[in-house]
Amino acid sequence: MRPAILFPLFAETRTLPGVGPKLERLITRAAGPRLLDLIFDLPTGLIDRRYRPKLAGAEAGRIATVLVNVLDHVPPRDRRQPYRVRCSDETGVIELAFFHAKPDYLMRTLPVGARRVVSGRIEHFQGRPQMAHPDYILSPEDAATMPPIEPVYRLTENLPSKSLLKAIRGALEKVPAMPEWQDKPFLKARGWSGFNEALTAAHSPESEADLKPEASARQRLAYDELLANQLALVMIRAAMRGQKGRPLKGDGHLQQKAIAALPFALTEAQRTAVAEIDDDMAKPMRMLRLLQGDVGAGKTVVAMLALLNAVEAGAQGALMAPTEILARQHMAALEKMAEAADVRMALLTGRERGAAREATLKKLAEGEIDILVGTHALFSEDVSFRDLGLAVVDEQHRFGVHQRMTLQGKGHNPVDVLVMTATPIPRTLALTAYGDMDVSRLTGRPPGRKPVDTRVLPAERLDDVVEHLKRAIARGARAYWVCPLVEESEKIDLAAAEERAAMLRQFLGEGVGLVHGRMKGPERDAAMAKFKSGETQVLVATTVIEVGVDVPEATIMVIEHAERFGLAQLHQLRGRVGRGQAKSTCLLLYHGPLGETAKARLKTLRETDDGFVIAEEDLRLRGAGELLGVRQSGLPEFRVADLAAHGELLAAARDDAKLILARDPNLRSPRGEALRVLLYLFERDEAVRYLRTG
Ligand code: ADP
Ligand code: MG
Repeated sequence: MRPAILFPLFAETRTLPGVGPKLERLITRAAGPRLLDLIFDLPTGLIDRRYRPKLAGAEAGRIATVLVNVLDHVPPRDRRQPYRVRCSDETGVIELAFFHAKPDYLMRTLPVGARRVVSGRIEHFQGRPQMAHPDYILSPEDAATMPPIEPVYRLTENLPSKSLLKAIRGALEKVPAMPEWQDKPFLKARGWSGFNEALTAAHSPESEADLKPEASARQRLAYDELLANQLALVMIRAAMRGQKGRPLKGDGHLQQKAIAALPFALTEAQRTAVAEIDDDMAKPMRMLRLLQGDVGAGKTVVAMLALLNAVEAGAQGALMAPTEILARQHMAALEKMAEAADVRMALLTGRERGAAREATLKKLAEGEIDILVGTHALFSEDVSFRDLGLAVVDEQHRFGVHQRMTLQGKGHNPVDVLVMTATPIPRTLALTAYGDMDVSRLTGRPPGRKPVDTRVLPAERLDDVVEHLKRAIARGARAYWVCPLVEESEKIDLAAAEERAAMLRQFLGEGVGLVHGRMKGPERDAAMAKFKSGETQVLVATTVIEVGVDVPEATIMVIEHAERFGLAQLHQLRGRVGRGQAKSTCLLLYHGPLGETAKARLKTLRETDDGFVIAEEDLRLRGAGELLGVRQSGLPEFRVADLAAHGELLAAARDDAKLILARDPNLRSPRGEALRVLLYLFERDEAVRYLRTG
């Protein structure tokens, strides 16, 4: 249950004075619906009004506060002109300019002959200082009411900055005095203050340095958030580990048969990963392991061998893919191994329906299917195994923690779990999503894989690209042509892809296929199959090919509007070629002019094909928030912590979390109680239910 001390923060913003329904809507859009959301909405800038020049020396472009006498009013001659009020000090004259002004209001606030303190941005207009719409106009007696420094918050349309500022101030006043959940000597060593003090300081920046992630107050708050994240992960993990698993110990006879049927030898990295997984499964605790490897690193074979290990031990296995295409592809890729090992494999996706589905479910429940491959459909309630021992989740980057848990619930006994990710997640991100889950990494690439020659070209060279493609196809090459997908307008993207396919057909003939996300399953599979068999030589695609798809004969990848893709995404797309023996090319077409980040991104891609290097660079260039589209990735979102800047804090938080739970597994000590407040504050409380009660 949420600790009572936090109740005020979970109140809605409309409970704040001055916040009505309209403002509430705007604030919700900008920050969120609750006071909690407001207090963690930290300023992105500041306005410093302490610059108090004389008019003669006032620098253009700066926010300044000046003390002036009002000279006269100059009403506009027509409506496009501003209303002007001329003011002076002993050094010069300034014009205050007001568009769409109400003259009587200006007469009242700036009466001729009065002294006024005026604050706003100084501009020079025809050599003379000017200030359009000052932020403050005060009499000298009231000047003290103007804050010398004001925080600036990220705004959304129509939300007046003063209203947001007021709401945030109001929310901060409601923050209760929090118990200290951090270790006091640790705080002292870092030079950090308590939570309340840090929060206040974070909202009262005095210089640009205070806005940086390295600022002491921000570090303290980020550490709080990261500790909450890591505590939750360690707690969930301890609970799952604590559940006794069952030893799944195969004798290797199925694995050996399957390996013998492979047309290649396993790489060193694959053998190591298989050994680590087998070892883990043999332990009486439940396995929770991450298999990380770049696109094409050969994870699927490793997964299959793990599944066979489960079957050898008398249990069943499940392999879950994020898309229908991928599930079918896994099925096709693994069929030979399954045949060689003489195990029974079946497919279950949303497309299996009726009698066929019923038959599969029956066999599954009776143990006549050893390995089930599928999509989300595996989560359906009516799917039950006779004895599920291992669940492999091919996560790519689509699933979250929630789904992983659901599949674990499918076994009568605790199920071993192996999560595969194709995106080489930077270490820092992997930590936030998986905690210190055991990790097997497939580094390097399978033998025979060649680096892809990557070139960056302006879109104006489309003709050359088509010409190049024509010659390559004449030599028997196959190519992907990717058109970007902008989510807001799937229709337009689709039209663009269709148009591109039509254009290419004009130049290249009928061997141009098309796949896109709106296609129905069978239609899409048919288009893929034609490309795989070589009936079509060019496959125009929206990003559906991003996930999976293995056509080793494809050696050319053209990506249009490459500047619109993220680095990791481009890397994934490029990974679709370079899979066969022939030399591959990736052509990145961009529409200029390129921004600095886009330039850096394309340069990185040209220079390296190491997925882990690319992932780290992506994190650096974009910040964690934008990486991969955090929401669909299942990676946690942070309010305060900035993983690109706070990586070191994350590592410390992980160690801290482990130590805390080793000493106080149920968070019962006074500090433990405070840490429970922390978990609820950062909404990581789902983990609390994993603590033993009582
Ligand atoms: P991932 O799932 O990691 O992206 P896959 O498992 O789909 O990669 O493997 C990509 C391709 O490499 C497949 O065609 C697979 O058959 C092949 N492959 C896997 N392991 C090896 C190996 N040891 N030697 C040669 N080719 C391999
Ligand atoms: Mg794969």
